[in-house]
Amino acid sequence: MRCETMSSQNPEAISDALADWSLDRPGIVFQECGSCRQRWYFQRRFCPHCGDGNPSLRQARGIGVVYSATEVHRAPTEALRAYAPYTILLIDAEEGFRMMAHGAAGLVIGERVQAGYRTVAGKLLPFYESEQHG
Ligand SMILES: [Zn+2]
Repeated sequence: MRCETMSSQNPEAISDALADWSLDRPGIVFQECGSCRQRWYFQRRFCPHCGDGNPSLRQARGIGVVYSATEVHRAPTEALRAYAPYTILLIDAEEGFRMMAHGAAGLVIGERVQAGYRTVAGKLLPFYESEQHG
């Protein structure tokens, strides 16, 4: 009594052509709707704005602006405790999506940042720092 077309709730797999930190490949992937051109970060099967069922995966450049910065003193897990205090950022990427990530201490709202990658608690994570000029 199962319906094959509805059995998979997972979004499209990230292909080898794209790099994403969740696959231990330094990079950030987002989704774009082919109908309304809206972009977002967390992968979905449908566009959250117009309902189009065929969003595509895109590679981000890793450049953005700090939307908010929070210094975390009490780590939520034992593995993260060794890194506290650390900074959690909300980043408005230049491609138009917003994501949460670790970043350098002292970044301020509105500052331009670029993503690097660090291994934190045994996992590769995006780590934003002030954008390098020149
Ligand atoms: Zn759409």
